[in-house]
Amino acid sequence: MKTTTTLHIPMSSPDLTNLEREAVAQVLRTPHLSMGDQIEAFEAAFCRYLGVKHAIGVNSGTAALHLCVLAAGVEAGDWVLTTPFSFVASTNVILYAGAIPVFVDVDPQTGNLDLQQAMQAVHDLTTGGKAAQRWLPRRGQGQHRGQLKAILAVDVFGQPADWDALRELADQYHLKLIEDSCEALGAEYKGRKAGVLGDYGTFGFYPNKQITTGEGGMIVTDDDAAAAFMRALRNQGRAPGDTWLQHTYLGYNYRLDELSAALGLAQMQRLEELLRRREQVAAWYNQRLKVLDGVEIPYIAPTTTRMSWFVYVIRLAAGIDRGQVAARLAEFGVPVRPYFLPIHLQPYMQERFGYRRGDYPVTEDLGERGLALPFSGVMSEEQVDYVCHALQMVLKSL
Ligand SMILES: *Cc1c(COP(=O)(O)O)cnc(C)c1O
Repeated sequence: MKTTTTLHIPMSSPDLTNLEREAVAQVLRTPHLSMGDQIEAFEAAFCRYLGVKHAIGVNSGTAALHLCVLAAGVEAGDWVLTTPFSFVASTNVILYAGAIPVFVDVDPQTGNLDLQQAMQAVHDLTTGGKAAQRWLPRRGQGQHRGQLKAILAVDVFGQPADWDALRELADQYHLKLIEDSCEALGAEYKGRKAGVLGDYGTFGFYPNKQITTGEGGMIVTDDDAAAAFMRALRNQGRAPGDTWLQHTYLGYNYRLDELSAALGLAQMQRLEELLRRREQVAAWYNQRLKVLDGVEIPYIAPTTTRMSWFVYVIRLAAGIDRGQVAARLAEFGVPVRPYFLPIHLQPYMQERFGYRRGDYPVTEDLGERGLALPFSGVMSEEQVDYVCHALQMVLKSL
């Protein structure tokens, strides 16, 4: 371990080889840059991997989620139950549909939707009146009483939510279940793969994800009608049989281009290797940090039969000044990131719905103590050593 030199370690890096470079170059030797055989092959690879009937490639994970919300029948003024401890996209797509995100707090260990609270909220929102009121935002609900249509849960940091319990709840109240598995490609819940645990699942392929296409996303579902609808919406609302200038629905341009699809297909061929490398890096971190005072390493629930490491987020003990830790780590060339800043406290959410600090205390506590360390499948053991050593010195010096 060198202490005299400063290593410059990126927050995250894609894991790319000549296989990916050649796959993209090959597309450029053809005239087919959109809606060709690469996206079909990329979608087929997802169907095979997940054992699911339909996979629909789109140009971001956010676009994938947006189409799922529309396929779930969510309309203006409806309510969708979701989590404030996530990347903002999972809430924003509800707003895009003109609906109202209704938050419930999260489990303090996993950071995933708190089941007891979700059950109570669904019951109360269905009952209406005063019981429903306590779950709704202070303002910005519109004039009409909403109707609960769906639950949108997130597999946070690559760890599946409790999907069997969510399924039971959704069935009991006739709700659609949307799985934001954008952080969880390869994860398993009780031996079943993340992404196919709700009615519709989504993946995202930004460069920090388990596989990347630059920008891109994927929807997966077994629902034939919903799949046909989402395929049409992805392509400017063109239903099967429509010509290029016929549009059955109000659609979007959410198409994934062929270069990105070729990159994604090559990454899918290496998926197991990519997941294993991330597991190895997480294991190096765990080994070094589990003995460090003031640091909590990631918790893995018994229902998580395989964690898919998207990020490596530690929790600092209460009372440790996270800002100061981050500033001191930066001096060592170690970038870190607070993870996540709660969605309900983002300025536009506070302004529109009147949220305040204290509304979702577990989310806020995790948000205040969570620190993502540099993480990717291409990190070396020496780099992990360097980060852990720097963290140890910083914590000691406080
Ligand atoms: C990455 C991610 C998305 C999708 O993000 P895009 O940048 O639109 O691909 C959605 N939800 C969560 C929780 C994510 O981490």
